[in-house]
Amino acid sequence: MKALTELLENKGKGAVTVPASASVAAAIRTMYESRVGSVLIPSASGTPVGILTERDVMRLCAEGKTDFEHMPLKDYMTTNIIMGKPEHRVHEVLLLMTEKRFRHMPVVKDGQILGLISMGDLVKAKLEETAQEAQALREYITS
Ligand code: AMP
Repeated sequence: MKALTELLENKGKGAVTVPASASVAAAIRTMYESRVGSVLIPSASGTPVGILTERDVMRLCAEGKTDFEHMPLKDYMTTNIIMGKPEHRVHEVLLLMTEKRFRHMPVVKDGQILGLISMGDLVKAKLEETAQEAQALREYITS
């Protein structure tokens, strides 16, 4: 079973970030331009202190809070972030995301952002692993 560090090696390290001083509008533009579903907000030392995802933007729209240019990101980001470690296994993070109902997780080491793993990355890794297991079983049966 793969660890998050292997997923980051394939995907590329690093994550899309926006400063806490930016507006929600700037975060939305960054998500759109970078083609991602979330942005991380790092502290001055590089530790993630907030996350904003597409779902947060949808909730704000539903609540009628749409003056995004004048909405400080620091007031609307999620601050109690659940973070992963590079050694965490794909299946345990999939279970955690399913249980806690979120789809993005920063991977952090020594307080620094190594990357961002999404539910899509985890499902892709799990499908690849399942295909490899099936192939190994086929070879075992026919050998
Ligand atoms: P998502 O399903 O990832 O779009 O996020 C659903 C909600 O969970 C949003 O309010 C996000 O800000 C929040 N969220 C996303 N990722 C995390 C995380 N790793 N830790 C805590 N909250 C998160």
